[in-house]
Amino acid sequence: MNIKLNDNFDNVKESYLFSEIAKRVNKYSAEHPEAKIIRLGIGDCTLPLTKTVIDAMHKAVDEMGVKETFRGYPPEYGYDFLREAISKYYASNGVDVAADEIFVSDGAKSDCGNIVDILGDNTILIPDPVYPVYMDSNIMSGRKIELISGNQENGFLPMPKGLEVKPYVIYICSPNNPTGATYNKEQLGEWIAFAKKSGSLIIFDSAYEAFIKGDYPHSIYAVEGARECVIEICSFSKMAGFTGTRCSWTVFPKELEVNGKSVQKMWARRQATKFNGVPYVIQRAAEAALSPEGVKEAMANIDYYMSNGKLIGELLKEKGVWFSGGVCSPYIWLKCPNNMKSWDFFDMLLEKVQVVGTPGAGFGDEGEGYFRLTSFGSREATIEAIERLKTIL
Ligand code: PLP
Repeated sequence: MNIKLNDNFDNVKESYLFSEIAKRVNKYSAEHPEAKIIRLGIGDCTLPLTKTVIDAMHKAVDEMGVKETFRGYPPEYGYDFLREAISKYYASNGVDVAADEIFVSDGAKSDCGNIVDILGDNTILIPDPVYPVYMDSNIMSGRKIELISGNQENGFLPMPKGLEVKPYVIYICSPNNPTGATYNKEQLGEWIAFAKKSGSLIIFDSAYEAFIKGDYPHSIYAVEGARECVIEICSFSKMAGFTGTRCSWTVFPKELEVNGKSVQKMWARRQATKFNGVPYVIQRAAEAALSPEGVKEAMANIDYYMSNGKLIGELLKEKGVWFSGGVCSPYIWLKCPNNMKSWDFFDMLLEKVQVVGTPGAGFGDEGEGYFRLTSFGSREATIEAIERLKTIL
């Protein structure tokens, strides 16, 4: 063929993190078939969908089988019932977001990746380490990227102080994947002040907001001024176990404008052209997840995961290992003991105690020397892993 391809893809690193983990684990298993390997690297929910969600899905499935209640293409931006339910969910956290500012989607990953469609050739500011989608989607579209370092000194919460004052598209993920670090209201206020001063846009990924405990904002719109400079992306995935069910939303406040052009209208146009909406059955399930009973059940599951995180955190404290996260997030980000490199620590854990985690180096250069454990395992597996880790930390 003689067509031109998008050569920017040549600049995207092989996504080798999870395949490399699988390769090393499979090799070890083949050599030690008797070994009982415990996986504390998973970033996926393991508890099933709750009763309220499943009941709503069953009801919606039945409706689809009856002529009078059958639904065809869903609205591109989400059914009003779900947009209203999400708006009410914001209100329950003291935040004012109107239903018509909410755009329902099939995943935060899709929206994080697709947002580049409506943005021009800006400088992109991305924290390192971070969820790789922000980086890769911008490399694929040939954008210029600047990194801002997360490190132990700033608690993996980089701040704008010292940045050149120019317009950026800034990605912020809080509570953070992979570090679990969470910005407080004052820190988010500093980012908003910087965005306003520099004419920047913030893309705020709050996929883990439901894990927040204590005095941290669940939405960046709880901070004054955010409506003029922030797009917020959130998801049912980790909140309600929808990783396999797929539903999320993104907020475009009416105030977001560039030279009189509405960013919200551009997103609406993009979605109407390229997206045909989330299935009715799934949107009914998502609506149920936000009902009082649904939220109660989701919180019980989150508490279960967080108790695992607490146990891991207690072990690390006892052993004097530095870590962040585990409080407002299912992720525990620890410093590898004895200045080991991430992959060396990975190999050591696999070989000595058959516990699998995720090497921090896979999330960016600043992740080298760190390691991610998650609280998504079962209680039994987490306790067993802790007993084993005790012997080598
Ligand atoms: N944002 C962050 C920070 C994540 O860690 C993940 C998933 O791991 C996502 C977004 C993707 O969410 P979704 O399942 O809604 O696509």
